[in-house]
Amino acid sequence: MCKNENNVPENFFWASHITETKGRFPNVRYVHMPTLCNHCENAPCVAACPTRAMHKKENNITMHNPNKCIGCKTCAMACPYKVISYNDSAVHKRWKKGEELIRNCTSTGKEINTKIGGKVIPFYNKDRERTLPGIRPKGVVEKCTFCDHRVSNGQLPYCVMACPCDARIFGDLNNPQSEVNKLLQKFRPIRLKENLGTDPSVYYIRDFNPSHHVTTKGEI
Ligand code: SF4
Ligand code: SF4
Repeated sequence: MCKNENNVPENFFWASHITETKGRFPNVRYVHMPTLCNHCENAPCVAACPTRAMHKKENNITMHNPNKCIGCKTCAMACPYKVISYNDSAVHKRWKKGEELIRNCTSTGKEINTKIGGKVIPFYNKDRERTLPGIRPKGVVEKCTFCDHRVSNGQLPYCVMACPCDARIFGDLNNPQSEVNKLLQKFRPIRLKENLGTDPSVYYIRDFNPSHHVTTKGEI
């Protein structure tokens, strides 16, 4: 869904996951944790950026300004979560060649253009244009923006909106009455690499193993 909304190219991911198998047969447990930019309060990527291209917005989202970025990748090295990718190609090479992105499955740019009247470039994302360029620039870094182009328009991040299980909850940590704060109080949340002092804004409130659904205060 993230790729769909943000047009993320092959070989890198704004949203990824950690998987781990714990225990010994037959007592084996499979752990799956989705990962993304943690939008850290004390973001090492922001502190490391020499041009202030990586910056915090007033809503605490860690954003990136491609116009200021020189592509040095210092932020990517500083990020302890390794969620920053470097974009070294302009648009997908198969798009440039007029081929389908997924062969014999998706439409070519020409086919889409013909269907919609030939006026819109298929890889141009007009929604993303609100806070990021509609066509991703080559030679700069990028990462999850919490779909800032949607959030700044009063919408949820696309992954939150699209998840069929409501596994992702997005909200205002500064509002004590928000759903996220109620859930964080109800369950014992964890954050990734908390010991580093980055103060991540992404919390995990439980794992996906049914035998571990019971928490100190009950079940969701
Ligand atoms: Fe920066 Fe990495 Fe933290 Fe995201 S997770 S704010 S990229 S340090
Ligand atoms: Fe800043 Fe861009 Fe260098 Fe990252 S790659 S540190 S955003 S200038």
